[in-house]
Amino acid sequence: MSAFQPQLPSPLIPFTPPWEGASNVTMMVKRDDAIHPVVSGNKWRKLKYTIANLPPTVESIVSFGGGFSNHLHALGFVCHTLGLPFHAIVRGNYEGNESPMLNDLLHWHANLHYVNKDTYQKRHEKRYLAQLNAQFPNCLIVPEGGSQSDALFGLSELIDEIDHPFDTIIAPVASGATLAGIVKGLAPTQHALGIGVLKGEGYLESLVSQFLDHEMNWRITHDFHCGGYAKQPQYLKTFCAQFNTSMPFAIEPVYSGKVFYALQQLLREGAFRKGERIVILHTGGLQGARPKGN
Ligand SMILES: *Cc1c(COP(=O)(O)O)cnc(C)c1O
Repeated sequence: MSAFQPQLPSPLIPFTPPWEGASNVTMMVKRDDAIHPVVSGNKWRKLKYTIANLPPTVESIVSFGGGFSNHLHALGFVCHTLGLPFHAIVRGNYEGNESPMLNDLLHWHANLHYVNKDTYQKRHEKRYLAQLNAQFPNCLIVPEGGSQSDALFGLSELIDEIDHPFDTIIAPVASGATLAGIVKGLAPTQHALGIGVLKGEGYLESLVSQFLDHEMNWRITHDFHCGGYAKQPQYLKTFCAQFNTSMPFAIEPVYSGKVFYALQQLLREGAFRKGERIVILHTGGLQGARPKGN
């Protein structure tokens, strides 16, 4: 068993791509992908306080996700390093056809429970959660994506780490906790721009708002989900492949690929003020980019 050592604060690096409109603004990338080689940075920030404040009575952890979930992967690794039994409730049956992510979980001695769509749908229902509590005595149930309310504290810390002045921070949005956590850490003069990575106009806004108690400086653009969650049209694949051969860090098509693709388009459209100081959050998470058997 190895100790878990996240590298914090994560690096902040200048970003100067040879893209149309790029020289009108100043850009830096907050490299949460560099926090840990296995655990996705974004997911570690979400789990940090849940793990730090784990009641001593907790005997196992239960959580939910798909077969390529960065969250299950991060939590599975952390539980393994803590020697804490982990139950992963996985949407779909991958028996005998495990994804690379699920193979990692097995390697870390996680217990995989494959459930069908209908059962997975119940993951927020009180009755189902009570049933899990009975099945796994003294367990702690972490919601899908690690998006429990104390996740926001861990996320907002990334704003405190940024020691350069900036106007706008750009980040992907799926469950909304990341954007909400960032917004909580912003000064009143700063803005957050979320890139919706799934089809959810109105819905994604409601997810973010539920974590925030008043109007703050943020908005979400829905122009770059590229067809929906984890959808990878050829133009997006090509963009990511070219990016990965020419830039000093890698992106994947599910989250960071859509963020940088959006950035390229927005720069081209002149969507930013001249001289605007932009931070792009690289949330990490390369589970969606791993070839089978890797
Ligand atoms: C889960 C995840 C996100 C989405 O964060 P939300 O808080 O669910 O909006 C973004 N990037 C990566 C790499 C992730 O794993």
